[in-house]
Amino acid sequence: LYNTVQDLKGSIRVFCRVRPLGTTGDAAPSCLSLGTESDIAMYDKSGERKVFRFDRIFDGYSTQTQVYEDVQALIRSVMDGFNVCIFAYGQTGSGKTHTMTGSCVDDTEGRGINFRALDDLFALQAKRDSETEYIITAQMLEIYNETLRDLLAEEQGSSNRLDMLSTQPTGLNVPGATQIAVATTHDVLDMMRVGARNRHSAETRMNERSSRSHQVLTIIVDGTNRLTGARSHACLHLVDLAGSERTDKSGVEGDRLREANAINSSLSALGSVMHSLAAKSKHIPFRNSKLTELLADSLSGHAKVLMFMHVAPESSSVGESISTLNFGTRVAAV
Ligand code: ADP
Ligand code: MG
Repeated sequence: LYNTVQDLKGSIRVFCRVRPLGTTGDAAPSCLSLGTESDIAMYDKSGERKVFRFDRIFDGYSTQTQVYEDVQALIRSVMDGFNVCIFAYGQTGSGKTHTMTGSCVDDTEGRGINFRALDDLFALQAKRDSETEYIITAQMLEIYNETLRDLLAEEQGSSNRLDMLSTQPTGLNVPGATQIAVATTHDVLDMMRVGARNRHSAETRMNERSSRSHQVLTIIVDGTNRLTGARSHACLHLVDLAGSERTDKSGVEGDRLREANAINSSLSALGSVMHSLAAKSKHIPFRNSKLTELLADSLSGHAKVLMFMHVAPESSSVGESISTLNFGTRVAAV
């Protein structure tokens, strides 16, 4: 099975991905140097060299295909009944959406993990079809200011606000969420379009909201063995997190302050949960944010977690990049 290698390495892995220099129009020079496959060094504002180590580093030349190669085994373990969560963490403009969604419509190489994962699951579904009947469904939620919204609901507005239930054995604790059965890449593209449109419509009211909300695409895989009737159930959560930049709170009021507080507290709640999971603590503080509460059932037990720490290479972002790398180091450390 696809889990063996993963199991040897523990259940939380942290990758770092550096985006190419200058893609956001920032002309500042690079402040980092890459060592081996797993070392990254940054020169901070005082010129001091700080080295960070992760399970894997992807530099600005890494392609979407190369990144996916290191994620594939994890995705496939969902078909064997393992819950998997993949997170993209980093400041706005560091490449989170590029990794998770990428460019999609006419550009298969540009496609990110979301599309590739689904294609892979469909391929396995077809390959195992004589043995196991798999049903694959998807839901897409957004968490903004600690409020959950259904991005696949037909009707957008106050009606697409959702509530969570406490622990559910299925790993899905938002009973009202719209779930769409997907069987082909075409279905996925349609679904992504609906999600993006709904996200967009909220954005015009609250400009540029996507960088200040978490997007959670959940793929649910149910399998039934055709011979024995044995069932498997697992969730794959693909999470494009809100930008991790620390908003300067002085002078910020109202909506902006509420947003900043919500983001800061949910990202730090996520960090604490990851740290407790890595340390195999008895108490995992899931209840401290909507995001961790949403994922609690999937993160408990034999879940596998992958975090992508995204950094911008420009020296103008060095403070944010170091803070991101520190977050990743804390999560990975036991
Ligand atoms: P975020 O979601 O973290 O705010 P984006 O994914 O939107 O950041 O990336 C910011 C910009 O940089 C986008 O124009 C994106 O296409 C580009 N970009 C990010 N990562 C890469 C990469 N690895 N290769 C090429 N372009 C990238
Ligand atoms: Mg983004």
